[in-house]
Amino acid sequence: ILEVRNIGKSFGSTEVLKNISFSLEEGRAMAIIGSSGSGKTTLLRCLNFLETPDAGTISVRGETLFDAADPATARESEIRKKRLHFGLVFQSFNLFPQYTALKNVTLASELLARERSDYKHSVRTIAKELEENAMALLDQMGLAAKAGLYPHQLSGGQQQRVAIARALALKPDVLCFDEPTSALDPELTGEVLRVIRGLAEQKTTMVIVTHEMAFARDVADTVVFMDGGLVVEQGRPEDVITNPKEERTRRFLARFT
Ligand code: ATP
Repeated sequence: ILEVRNIGKSFGSTEVLKNISFSLEEGRAMAIIGSSGSGKTTLLRCLNFLETPDAGTISVRGETLFDAADPATARESEIRKKRLHFGLVFQSFNLFPQYTALKNVTLASELLARERSDYKHSVRTIAKELEENAMALLDQMGLAAKAGLYPHQLSGGQQQRVAIARALALKPDVLCFDEPTSALDPELTGEVLRVIRGLAEQKTTMVIVTHEMAFARDVADTVVFMDGGLVVEQGRPEDVITNPKEERTRRFLARFT
């Protein structure tokens, strides 16, 4: 479903991503691991068109969404729609503080309805349907009772689950997580990981940047290890995490044992 080929990105003279390639099949989860500064966040930002790569291509379902050699694919007007192929859950939740949990999710459904050219009805006429859809997503996250609360009235773990519901409301082809638990207290980490595990069981296509090695090993179908802007090793978790081939992967994983 997702093909990333030869992605490169520099900030000034710093080459942050070097020739990154991987593919992901529908219904599979990929974990991206690697030390701080290895380029994981920048890679996710490139996938979500928050950064423009200097080189390479990004394709979803066989359609080339981005090609560095074709500047027309990077036009802002084009990118708004393409972004909807990807949902992004940030480390720091990024909910709108002035809106309730329900409204945060409904806004995403509205955005999708507006951007979809095949949508026949105006957002106003389908408002009830969008809200029901948002409510169902909050319920799936175990948050039906919290729908009317504002972000500051929710725990970090609950806010992150609202953020996941919001990302799902966009019906993305690929759901991306950037260290979804690293801003949470350890006792709140479990509830968020459980939700992501549930999504994996439902065959949600996901790319997850994480420092939770046990979680990556259990949930991911493939693991990508990055170091210094390069993919050093990728493959099944039992190979990359349990039995790494590369010395650099071994040195990184030794920190977690
Ligand atoms: P972490 O685990 O700490 O989030 P990471 O693997 O996600 O690290 P990135 O955040 O992608 O790493 O950063 C990779 C490198 O790119 C770092 O050296 C960082 O300083 C640099 N970098 C990231 N964004 C920018 C930017 N907008 N301008 C300049 N340098 C940047």
